[in-house]
Amino acid sequence: MLYPSCLRRLLVLVSLLGSLAACAPTPPPTYRIGFSQSVSAGDWREAMLAGMKREVSFHPEIQFLTRDAQGNSRQQQQQVHDLLDAGADVLVVAPNEEHALSSAIEEAYRRGVPVILLDRHTTSPHYAAYVGGDNAGVGAAAARYAALRLQQRGRIVEILGSPSSVSAERHRGFAQALRAYPEIRVVGEVVGDWGATSLQPALSRLLQTYPETDLIFAHSDLMAQGAYEVCRRLGRKDIRIIGVDGLPGPGNGMEMVQQGRATASLFYSPGGEEAIRVALKILHHQAYERENILGTIVIDSVNVLTLQQQATKVASQQAGIEQQQQLLRTLQATYTNQRTALYGLLATLLAAVVLGASAWRAARSNRRINRELARQNEANDVINRELVRQNEANDVINRQLSTQNEEIRAQRNQIAELAEQARVETEAKLRFFTNFSHELRTPLTLIMGPVEEMLTGPHGAALLPSHRHDLGLVRRNTQRLLQLVNQLLDFRKIEVGKMAVQAREDDLVAFVRELVETFEPAARVQQVALLFQPAVPQLPGWLDRNVLDKVFFNLLSNALKYTPAGGQITVRVWPADDGQALQVEVADTGRGIRPQDSPHIFEWFYQGEQPATAKGSGMGLALAQGLVRLHQGNLTFSSQLGQGSTFIVTLPCELPAELRTTAALPEALALDEPRALPIEDLTAETAAGQEPLVLVIEDNADVNEFVARKLQPHFRVQTAADGSTGLQLAKDLIPDLIVCDVMMPGLSGLEVVAQLRADWRTSHVPVILLTARTAPEQQVEGVQAGADVYLTKPFNPTFLLESIHTLLANRARQHEHTRRQLGAAAQATPDAAAPDPNPDQAFLQALTAQIESDLTRTDLTVEELAQALGFSRTQLYRKVKAVLGTSVTDYIQLVRLRKARELLLNDKLTITAVAYEVGYTSHSYFSNSFKARYQVSPSEFRARHLADSA
Ligand code: ADP
Repeated sequence: MLYPSCLRRLLVLVSLLGSLAACAPTPPPTYRIGFSQSVSAGDWREAMLAGMKREVSFHPEIQFLTRDAQGNSRQQQQQVHDLLDAGADVLVVAPNEEHALSSAIEEAYRRGVPVILLDRHTTSPHYAAYVGGDNAGVGAAAARYAALRLQQRGRIVEILGSPSSVSAERHRGFAQALRAYPEIRVVGEVVGDWGATSLQPALSRLLQTYPETDLIFAHSDLMAQGAYEVCRRLGRKDIRIIGVDGLPGPGNGMEMVQQGRATASLFYSPGGEEAIRVALKILHHQAYERENILGTIVIDSVNVLTLQQQATKVASQQAGIEQQQQLLRTLQATYTNQRTALYGLLATLLAAVVLGASAWRAARSNRRINRELARQNEANDVINRELVRQNEANDVINRQLSTQNEEIRAQRNQIAELAEQARVETEAKLRFFTNFSHELRTPLTLIMGPVEEMLTGPHGAALLPSHRHDLGLVRRNTQRLLQLVNQLLDFRKIEVGKMAVQAREDDLVAFVRELVETFEPAARVQQVALLFQPAVPQLPGWLDRNVLDKVFFNLLSNALKYTPAGGQITVRVWPADDGQALQVEVADTGRGIRPQDSPHIFEWFYQGEQPATAKGSGMGLALAQGLVRLHQGNLTFSSQLGQGSTFIVTLPCELPAELRTTAALPEALALDEPRALPIEDLTAETAAGQEPLVLVIEDNADVNEFVARKLQPHFRVQTAADGSTGLQLAKDLIPDLIVCDVMMPGLSGLEVVAQLRADWRTSHVPVILLTARTAPEQQVEGVQAGADVYLTKPFNPTFLLESIHTLLANRARQHEHTRRQLGAAAQATPDAAAPDPNPDQAFLQALTAQIESDLTRTDLTVEELAQALGFSRTQLYRKVKAVLGTSVTDYIQLVRLRKARELLLNDKLTITAVAYEVGYTSHSYFSNSFKARYQVSPSEFRARHLADSA
């Protein structure tokens, strides 16, 4: 395995080797020497270039760039720019013309590239160096050599090159030097073009003109060759010829001298090597001459062989050098290849070494790890054995634990069972306790009723004072007992969450004022001043009177209870919390609350220190607080022992929708608006000559008897001891009114009412429900089931009588109303097409439809009609009487005559036909009946109606 650390090491090594290879000897930085040549043709020019190349070949670091303008100055100018752009570090320029290249040289100067002028100057002063021959010196050397050969006397012809500074200088030097030899005379000048032929005609003519000519000086060897050919043609082999250039090689100056075609040639160096040498000095920042004038030597028969040999030697040496250089390059390439291969090998070797080392180390550490693993395995075995042993021990413990858990679970279940049992028992006790409280209310009602009756009834005034006092005592204590029982029931309701708030929009000031007023007599008796101080005349808010009544009642009773004579109770009402809340304060100047009682007074059944006179239960404040919280408010207090106590109730003005009700108060409904019957009635009387029949359904025999006794002086009374008996009796007798208890075994009062309402025979009978249940929602339940009035026990018997009278009177009023309606118009007929959900309405629809279906039958009996509707004859009789206030036969006649009126409007039917149609066999009986009901005879009715419509 190759460890990551080894791999890293290997990588480092390889990169090190790479950089070693990179550090191998590399050529020094390359210089570029650019050479711009005006023209490359011609031996002299070739010699110039060859000289440069030769010199450059000694310097491998030099890159040599050449350009040939082929005699075109403009092109040369462009080429100088090209060389500058190609990155030349030094420029060697051999100008074509003095003027043409100046701007190019200026440009090089601007770019900081030094320029070496070769052979010719330009007009620009911004050149770095000049290398070139001394043309005047060449001219002078030619003159001195001519004088020597002519022994200072003779005739000379000069052949000038095409006009240029070169030819001018050579001519000047030549002429000047000849002045030293007065006996030498230049007889003529010929201007050539540096070539061999153009001069020949003019020279030929001149030689013929001056046959005494001894010597010709041509400015170049080539022109000297031309002159030689002219002289040969003229047979003037005696004329000496001197040329300029003296180059080696075939056809050049040296060969001409050696073969005798020229007497001498003046060596004029092309300066290639020298120019490169100066360039190198500049590149290497060495000192150099700015003006490098090259000297000349005379080549003649004396030294020509030596010079030729030297030139050949140089040429062959040059060839050798080039060969060696070629060899060197080959060797260098081989060397580079081998070096690369070597480094590669080295790297591979090193990598192998490193890998080997790593492998060796890995193997060694593997061995160590294996040994360690083996050791650990042994240890693990020991541990495992230990674990197995411990597991076994754990199993034993677990088994013990699970046994214990089992026991604990069993115990817990037992406890849970016991708790559940306790809960069930407690619940049963509480239920018993609640039911028991309910039960207490019935006997209390039975005590309260007669006592109230004795004290306030018509015989009250006749009571002996001692009896009146005793009865008062009975009444007060009964009231107190009732209050306690009610509080207990409320407590239970709050406990089981059954107490619901049903708030209405109300005025708190008016409500509290009413309550305070009820306490005024008691306060007067106790000689306590009771003040009511509302901060505003009205304070609207959402209030549940039923709930708050109990709260303020308790606070006021406490204040009265704990304030001795001479004290004062002040009740204040004001808006709080920026109008968001309402506050009621009950402040007394009584005994105050002891600090040790303060934390507990809101606890159920807690009683603080009691004065001897006070009778308490410890429920009042707990109940008050529970109720205030239900009403989303809070109850606070402050007290100072011996100074008095202040209780403050804070209530929100607004209550959430679920705590609001828009239903009217059931009491108001019961007392002021007995349920109106939906159908018109005709008479107020019940069965002729008889008192109305009242059915009392009450399971408590005492209450039943008590109520019956109270009602007997005024009504016929029937009693039933339970719901189903009562229901049956109601159906049989069709009473005028039913008084029914709510809480009964078997059928409850609410169920009795519901069944009464569902049956056509009894649906019209008014019902007064009696109950010990006070909750408003139960009263609503009763009213919803169809009760007309809901009375709470203990009820005042006088009030019960009043309620019965009111209901019956209402019924009479309804009959009156219906009679007028029915008598007046046909629309009083219930509309059979739209069945009414109201049972009485439905009954009337069915009855009317039944009569109308048998209208032509003259012998339709009440029995038949009752049977068709599922009634007995008496039931139908009482039902129709109760609903319509009339007899069945009367109603049958009403239906017949109403139909007759309709038919009379059709004048195609005779009166007799109409009578027959509506079940009358006798025309006169029909007419009499019609007139009796509508005060007009059928014929008059028809005549009047037809007149009206006409
Ligand atoms: P109780 O039926 O005993 O009055 P409450 O729950 O109404 O029960 O009150 C609890 C206790 O708080 C009372 O026993 C009494 O010690 C104390 N208390 C309540 N209201 C007052 C008050 N206005 N002045 C002095 N003490 C009061």
